[in-house]
Amino acid sequence: MFIKFLMSVGAISLALFIGMGTASTGMSEMFGKEEFADRYVNVYELKEDSDPIKTEHPDVVIAYETETEEIGFETVYIPDPTLVYGKQEIKTQGENGRIVYTYETLTSGGKQLSRKLVSEITDKEPINQVVHYGNDPTTPYGEMISPTLGKLTSCYGYRPGVGASNYHYGIDIAWRRGTEVVAADGGVVTVRKSIESFGLYLCIDHGNGLVTLYAHLDSATVKVGQRVARGELIGYMGDSGNATAPCLHFEVRLNGKRIDPLDGYLDKKDIVTPD
Ligand SMILES: [Zn+2]
Repeated sequence: MFIKFLMSVGAISLALFIGMGTASTGMSEMFGKEEFADRYVNVYELKEDSDPIKTEHPDVVIAYETETEEIGFETVYIPDPTLVYGKQEIKTQGENGRIVYTYETLTSGGKQLSRKLVSEITDKEPINQVVHYGNDPTTPYGEMISPTLGKLTSCYGYRPGVGASNYHYGIDIAWRRGTEVVAADGGVVTVRKSIESFGLYLCIDHGNGLVTLYAHLDSATVKVGQRVARGELIGYMGDSGNATAPCLHFEVRLNGKRIDPLDGYLDKKDIVTPD
């Protein structure tokens, strides 16, 4: 009942009560005795008959004080495979809630006779903070790493002295047979096969039309349909197909078009030659 009353009258009620010589009379006049008794039976009864304070202190002053307390929000974590592994994103900002405590004090002649909690209202419910986190290590970072160690022996484009017939649609990184070849970024293996030119080769689809290709492998450690994380071993360098020495032929394809891997995908200085 009291909670309803406070909510309907709001903050004004607090101010009204304070300083009234005989609060019950004042409130009765304001709301009508019946209504006041109904809404605020505890004080009414107190003032009329039931509380010895009334007879002992006819000048009792009833006042109300409020105190607020924050309710801390909770954080909810939701796995999100579209986010880079380990990355977190706040989707909903958490907000603290609030509880309002109302205390009733009875004072007579400047002396506080009693103070009690008369209502506890959750003024505002807390809003949970919602955090998404990347839970799939094969989700592409959108940035490539070098697929192997070695020496950059051939760049994308016309090969000097060879002519238009031998346009090179990728880069070659040469080192020893058996050097590890890794996924340049996360994705799913879409091709694993042997053809005359590439020898044994793999393709990895990184989404958004981006595919990488790894050719002249000695052997492959992944199969079609397998999801791989950036840096995960996918095979070993070899000289299968049309290669004169062990090397990795690496291509980047965007929407089916072969583009220069060193043009915004791989940094030359990231291709490290072992000592
Ligand atoms: Zn090549």
